[in-house]
Amino acid sequence: FSFFGFVMNKKSNANMEVLKITPIEQRVDSLLEKMTLDEKVGQMNLYNGFWDVTGPTPKEGSAKLKYEHLRKGWVGAMLSVRGAENVKEVQRIAVEETRLGIPLLIGFDVIHGYKTLSPIPLAESASWDLEAIEKSARVAATEASAAGINWTFAPMVDISRDPRWGRVMEGGGEDPYLGSKIARARVQGFQGDDLSDKHSIAACAKHFAAYGFSEAGKEYNSVDIGTSTLYNTVLPPFKAAADSGVKTFMNSFNELNGIPVTGSEFLQRDILKGAWNFEGFVVSDWASINELIFWGHAKDKRQAAIIASKAGSDLDMEGYVYIRELVQLVEDGIVAESVIDDAVRRILKVKFELGLFDNPYIYCDSETEKAVIGKAEHHEAVLDVAKKSIVLLKNEQNLLPLQKKGQKIALIGPLAADKNSPLGSWRIASDDNTAVSVLEGMKKYTGNTLIHEKGVDLVDGHAAFIEEVVLNTTNRDGMKEAVAAAKTADVVVMVLGEHGFQSGEARSRTELDLPGLQQELLEAVYAVNKNIVLVLNNGRPLAIEWAAEHIPAIVEGWQLGTQSGNAIAQVLYGDYNPSGKLPMTFPRNVGQIPIYYNHKSTGRPTNDNDNVFWSHYIDKENTPLWVFGHGLSYTTFEYKNFKVHGDKFSIGDNIKVTVDITNTGNYDGKEVVQLYIRDLFGSITRPVKELKGFELVHFKKGETKTIEFMLTNKELGFYNNQGKYMVEAGDFEVFVGGSSDTKLKDTFTLNY
Ligand code: BGC
Repeated sequence: FSFFGFVMNKKSNANMEVLKITPIEQRVDSLLEKMTLDEKVGQMNLYNGFWDVTGPTPKEGSAKLKYEHLRKGWVGAMLSVRGAENVKEVQRIAVEETRLGIPLLIGFDVIHGYKTLSPIPLAESASWDLEAIEKSARVAATEASAAGINWTFAPMVDISRDPRWGRVMEGGGEDPYLGSKIARARVQGFQGDDLSDKHSIAACAKHFAAYGFSEAGKEYNSVDIGTSTLYNTVLPPFKAAADSGVKTFMNSFNELNGIPVTGSEFLQRDILKGAWNFEGFVVSDWASINELIFWGHAKDKRQAAIIASKAGSDLDMEGYVYIRELVQLVEDGIVAESVIDDAVRRILKVKFELGLFDNPYIYCDSETEKAVIGKAEHHEAVLDVAKKSIVLLKNEQNLLPLQKKGQKIALIGPLAADKNSPLGSWRIASDDNTAVSVLEGMKKYTGNTLIHEKGVDLVDGHAAFIEEVVLNTTNRDGMKEAVAAAKTADVVVMVLGEHGFQSGEARSRTELDLPGLQQELLEAVYAVNKNIVLVLNNGRPLAIEWAAEHIPAIVEGWQLGTQSGNAIAQVLYGDYNPSGKLPMTFPRNVGQIPIYYNHKSTGRPTNDNDNVFWSHYIDKENTPLWVFGHGLSYTTFEYKNFKVHGDKFSIGDNIKVTVDITNTGNYDGKEVVQLYIRDLFGSITRPVKELKGFELVHFKKGETKTIEFMLTNKELGFYNNQGKYMVEAGDFEVFVGGSSDTKLKDTFTLNY
């Protein structure tokens, strides 16, 4: 008999009705009362699951031991079990074979889609299209839920200013305002309006917090940042996720100012569960409770369990620390049972909200799985967001869009025919090679002659996620053919960049050039034909100064997922007019990093005094290669009549800002109209520009529209070093334009 589980629901419909109308808190409490300490600690245990029970003798980590634990009710959640039937089996054990029949959370890294893949998150952020981003997360949730998954480890909302860090591909870029909007859109897409809907899954805001500031961009490194950066840059997207009702948070591998965050009471209890009133649970990152030992913060697993549980890490991901230590620690009176109860309450609450107690098999229907995964509608949605994610970085000599007839085009580069790399990091390995390549996309335009030459290889053989085989080759065999093809072509399209596995977790780089022999190939082709359209495929900003200076047309094509090649071809041929804008600054070289648009002024921002003692390098300009918010269109936009409606305001006033924008070019097109402010002086120094509004607007050829923004206390304030939000009187500048580099400015004064 399983009081709270599925068995009872089957037996008694009348009782099920009663259960359904009982508030979730009451259901959680009455279940908690029935649980033994072992069972409670079991709920705090998350295993990486697999369904092969023939593994080695029971020892930590073996499948056999995990299944024993599952049957005893010592497992609250699993990850990486997927497929309706497989999930059904582990869920059946949890529900029908354990004493209380508590269903499992089934987590998975559904980062940019389950099977039908959207662009990597950084690329999607370049769309600045919140509707498309939400829809893309919805597609991901729909497919994942059909495969038995009820919880995704996404969105990653880490702000980062360091493209050396491989995980920038997984986030929203460098800006907390844009990052917050995107966090909200993704949470909404995954969770939907009703979490108990069979296509909704619980989302997880990660990695809490400051993982994106790993020193020197080196993966898993320590983080040492000031309170101003923490409150104003790192935390806002997490706060936005919490405010949007995200059900779970994941902490992170890094330490922050000397305290590994998995053990940080300040972050997890004071801020998240305290000040922000977050009612969901916090999952550790993979074995990060264990890592407290390697950080030198806990002397052994016992101490790690004490620190992490007290700090508010509720669920131990594949760390075996809680399951081993917590029962004894409570019995010894070292960890209070109330700490355990609080964690378990949070975990159970999410399970109830997902509807798992009412129907634990809601996500385990093979028919739905077959019908939903890979649906045509999903392909349309990911193609749509892929096109919107492309950024036109440079377009001189009208090389783009390509003519549709009568041209001879040479398509060159190691990524031109690649069907694997565009899928990017974070996908199911069995789905390798399922992307539409640029070659395939371009072949659909039959009016031109298309010659394809790889030129050079980028990686050696098959690059797998886990293997360290992302080596750049030194094989020049195809170089000659590529140069010969380029020589006779009207236009050369070169697809260069990083392989999909050269960014992502544990993929930090010290160079941000075109890896391997690609720069050499680019220069060799350029020597014979200067009409080059460079299509970049990459998971992070690259420092490609030579290309930016020499190559007339450059398209940022990221890693765009399943429909990558179709999206790129449609943009190249002008069937889609690009509107993407960079969510992260592109540096000139690695030495400039961290380089980001919302930096502080410094005490010596210019060389007005004509001497060398100002804030600069002696070997490189201060400006980046491409600024945050940059992106061109095949049409042009003119901004006019920009004004702040008024000069003097009081704190609390709504401040209206308007601008007239005209599409002055020859194509219909979209513009991301961006609004920035500068608070000229403050008790805490303020950045030289801060994004505070944006709107994605469609303009027909010749059309003019008036765009209005409203600035309120929400946009004009900042957090002080005690984490208190404040709005100060003073002088403000307001900027509007098509990138963070805009000079279009008006001013106002804010009084007390
Ligand atoms: C990553 C997380 C991920 C987890 C589970 C960790 O290595 O940092 O982002 O969700 O693994 O796969």
